[in-house]
Amino acid sequence: MTDTTDDDTAWDRLCKQCGRCCFDKLEDSRGRIIYTRTACRYLDMESRRCKIFERRFEINPHCIKLTPELVEILHWLPSDCGYRPPPEKFTRKSNRPRRKKKTEKGM
Ligand code: SF4
Repeated sequence: MTDTTDDDTAWDRLCKQCGRCCFDKLEDSRGRIIYTRTACRYLDMESRRCKIFERRFEINPHCIKLTPELVEILHWLPSDCGYRPPPEKFTRKSNRPRRKKKTEKGM
């Protein structure tokens, strides 16, 4: 068994469940993101939680799975989104195996 499930759970826990990313967004001519009042039909407006969270990608093909790589390039995520910036443990750089330092012999 891999750590994928644990990693997925740890990743999902970063979400503050504010629901802001689940609202339609517009981008103006200057590239500014404007959040509308129109939410995804599956967002519970009181709890701000997704009503179909476990099956969201199956039921709603427009739902995007946030990944550390995506979070770094998506400009429409709120600046205070729980995924921003992605913690180092989830980024590729930190997942690369570290090289051992070469030691000089005879010193
Ligand atoms: S904006 Fe970020 S913290 Fe808020 S619900 Fe969306 S993913 Fe979670």
